[in-house]
Amino acid sequence: MKIICVGRNYADHIAELQNETPSDPVIFMKPETALVQRGQPFFVPDFSRDVHHELELVLRVCKNGRHIDEEFAPTYYDAIGLGIDFTARDLQSELKQKGLPWELAKAFDGSAPISPVFRPVSELGDVRNLNFRLEVNGQVRQRGNSGLLLHPFARIISFVSQFITLKQGDLIFTGTPAGVGPVVPGDELRGFLDDELLLSVPVR
Ligand code: MG
Repeated sequence: MKIICVGRNYADHIAELQNETPSDPVIFMKPETALVQRGQPFFVPDFSRDVHHELELVLRVCKNGRHIDEEFAPTYYDAIGLGIDFTARDLQSELKQKGLPWELAKAFDGSAPISPVFRPVSELGDVRNLNFRLEVNGQVRQRGNSGLLLHPFARIISFVSQFITLKQGDLIFTGTPAGVGPVVPGDELRGFLDDELLLSVPVR
């Protein structure tokens, strides 16, 4: 399986990092070794002094497809969970400045904790109105709503599949809203979809 991620997909987050708004989705990938499942801790890597949390809605791909029309894209995912796109911001800034790929800042081991449970789309109601939030040590740090996505789910799936074949079991991180910030050992991260606690990540 593979993990496909979308960057710069909420206007408030683009503003906080002073990035430009892209006309097409910004796509990058993480390897399977980035996954952290079942409530395992996230270990802050020693190559960064500024690892940020980015809480995101994550789509689970349920069938293989390429060149998917936007109209049919909703049939290619069947469940939505939460994930954290951990980002070594200092390393990312350095790489961006040099015009180099972000890979090392985004794809390192353990950089993609996901919720143990994904909610079936059939139970979620309108997927264009999903609220989610991140609490760090009990304080709300990020709030998002899928209605504010610059590139909604169907557009992401359609766009990516023009270049990369989607396969059953792939995960798509759909972008983070504003409020990203550094984590330190001892932090407890909790992600809520609507008001349901789906994701707990202890930082070590
Ligand atoms: Mg992200």
